[in-house]
Amino acid sequence: MPWSITVARVAGSEIRIHVTFLMLLAWIGIAQYLAGGASAALDSVLFILAVFACVVLHELGHALAARHYGISTPDITLLPIGGLARLSRVPDNPSEEIVIAFAGPLVNVVIAAILIVFLGARIDVAALEQIQNPTFGFLARLAAVNIFLVLFNLIPAFPMDGGRVLRAALSFRLGRRRATEIAAMIGQGLAFVFGFLGLIGGNPILVFIAIFVFLAAQAEAGEAGLTDAARRFPLKRAMITSFETLGPQSTVDDAADALLRTTQHEFPVVDGGGRLRGILTRNAMIRAMKLTGPATPVIDIMTTDIPTIHANQPLERVLRHMREEQAAYVGVVADDKRFVGYISQENLAELMMLGDQSKSAEAMPPP
Ligand SMILES: [Zn+2]
Repeated sequence: MPWSITVARVAGSEIRIHVTFLMLLAWIGIAQYLAGGASAALDSVLFILAVFACVVLHELGHALAARHYGISTPDITLLPIGGLARLSRVPDNPSEEIVIAFAGPLVNVVIAAILIVFLGARIDVAALEQIQNPTFGFLARLAAVNIFLVLFNLIPAFPMDGGRVLRAALSFRLGRRRATEIAAMIGQGLAFVFGFLGLIGGNPILVFIAIFVFLAAQAEAGEAGLTDAARRFPLKRAMITSFETLGPQSTVDDAADALLRTTQHEFPVVDGGGRLRGILTRNAMIRAMKLTGPATPVIDIMTTDIPTIHANQPLERVLRHMREEQAAYVGVVADDKRFVGYISQENLAELMMLGDQSKSAEAMPPP
């Protein structure tokens, strides 16, 4: 996610903080300082940090459960609204998804239990309503927040963990795609309820949560659609095979000619041995044209480290490269490692949209 700062690396996952989270922290600190002085500001900031430490532990709970099934979690991002653990792929088996989804809230159950049983935090419903009120003990408020995190996350709608459990449970009978649509629909319906209550009650935070839930549910449905398309279609169907290439000795001027001559937005740079050396994007080309001029060699400005994959591999593997390495393109090679085509995020999305209409494609034999 852009605008995130990496602060730590835990168990193979980068822990990142989104700048808006730092803004929230500053805003709360300043507001509390103006209202109650330095000690109130310190208490509030420490409390928010403690809450988000619990959120990170929650996300690590998901990450560790996922790792048990061989799924990595490249990063965990802290947003003002909570944490976001990005799993490299969705588990194939619905029962694995259920375990991974429950692992997060379970962490908060454990934290709340420790706070109450061992540290003597008094659990009080009033503390939940007054989490910004320092007269309630720090630990009591933290315990209340953890209980709230458990309850909120168990709501059976996307993007909450409960939504994942619901999707997994439904997908035993309905198939993953339909199950995702239902969980996302419930999430968006819930977002409207939150938004409505927030507007009526004059609660901007609830409206903010509503917008987040709505967008996240939508994104979840989109992601699931992509995974579904990647499972249904062979790699060769998504591969771009009709394109012009550039050579390692080509200049930005050559690239500009190719850009005008074709409708391509990116140009694979292929050497004399037929190996993919990189991909030149239209943006890099335009930038170089302005900054260093038309004589700039394309190999200086192309995107290198393009992951490549054998043409016989499943399309899902392409999606995994794109998610794990944030790759915009994946090159496709034949047995002799010669470059035969490539797949972009854009044409995967196109395949997904076409996939909705052309269900008959499923019966099509691989080319
Ligand atoms: Zn969770």
